[in-house]
Amino acid sequence: MRSDVIRNVLAECLSESHVSVLDKLSDEKYDEDVAADLGLKATIIRTLLNDLHENSLVEYQRTKNKKTGWYTYLWVRREGKIKEYVQNWLNFQLLELNSRLEDETRNVTFNCECMRVPYESAMEANFRCGSCGGDFVEYNNSELIDEIVSEVARINSLVEQI
Ligand SMILES: [Zn+2]
Repeated sequence: MRSDVIRNVLAECLSESHVSVLDKLSDEKYDEDVAADLGLKATIIRTLLNDLHENSLVEYQRTKNKKTGWYTYLWVRREGKIKEYVQNWLNFQLLELNSRLEDETRNVTFNCECMRVPYESAMEANFRCGSCGGDFVEYNNSELIDEIVSEVARINSLVEQI
């Protein structure tokens, strides 16, 4: 596949095993052959192929064996779809992260030993948790905000590299 960045993102949103299968499908192959190449069971390979197919990253040709009556599947990856899939996934991550960031910067929350609640809930409970009996104190989310901001930066840099 094209670049290391695309491979790494695919491994992040699917898994390393999915990437290994995609690597094998630069030209058409039977699922049994992919399984043999990777030293994995054919049932595992079929599950991986089905995931990839659901995401439109592979396609197959089905043929019927006239003797046995069984179907065989010849798989190949859809080169043109991979970049698009990775871009869509990254854009979705950015949307999610930005909406979390908005929530974190806009809302004051409180927490005790066992949970984190909105200001209104803490107030209604007189700032005492009904579950653990501890006090609700204002939650300092600056570290969490820093984490989200740096994750946004990481994703943005991936988007630029693709
Ligand atoms: Zn509690």
